Amino acid sequence: MKSFGFLPKNGQNKIPISTLSKDKVKKLANLRVIQKTLVYVIGLAPDIASESKLRSLDHFGQYGKIDKIVINTNNPFNGGRGGPSYSAYMTFANPRDAANCILSVDQFLYNDRLIRASFGTSKFCQYFLSAQKCSNKDCLYLHELRADLEAYTKEDMQSNKFIFQEQQKIAIKLSKALEMTLEEFK
Ligand SMILES: [Zn+2]
Repeated sequence: MKSFGFLPKNGQNKIPISTLSKDKVKKLANLRVIQKTLVYVIGLAPDIASESKLRSLDHFGQYGKIDKIVINTNNPFNGGRGGPSYSAYMTFANPRDAANCILSVDQFLYNDRLIRASFGTSKFCQYFLSAQKCSNKDCLYLHELRADLEAYTKEDMQSNKFIFQEQQKIAIKLSKALEMTLEEFK
């Protein structure tokens, strides 16, 4: 967030939304924040596109504990040589496992499908942005602004530029993941 000009006062990490100008809040609405435990994978062959297969130690379970898996089989990607492939979101219990997973499986060829993996993103909740309390307890959006969050703009997400930036970030995360303890990595 610091690269977007969201700087905390007095060395604090959390930034109260009420302290921001209208322009800054507008900027926040346009950001997609990296979720460090969320892995987005595309290129999954149908034979592994089930929760039990993905969770198994032969596949994504080998990188660590997975709290949640959501597979999208409604919109298969049909462009590859090998036939249809699916996408999935997997929430790991800790961010280092998610980073290791991404670095290990991205660009891996399985059953003639190229697997691509990246961190998933989320955006700020509309209620949070308007400094109101969000009453939806299942709300998937973000309700906290912290200086250490990493984000992209919506435009980056839609252009190829994003893929390049993302890969760089992932590479940085790899080196961190291998050298740092779990507490430091968080
Ligand atoms: Zn909300």
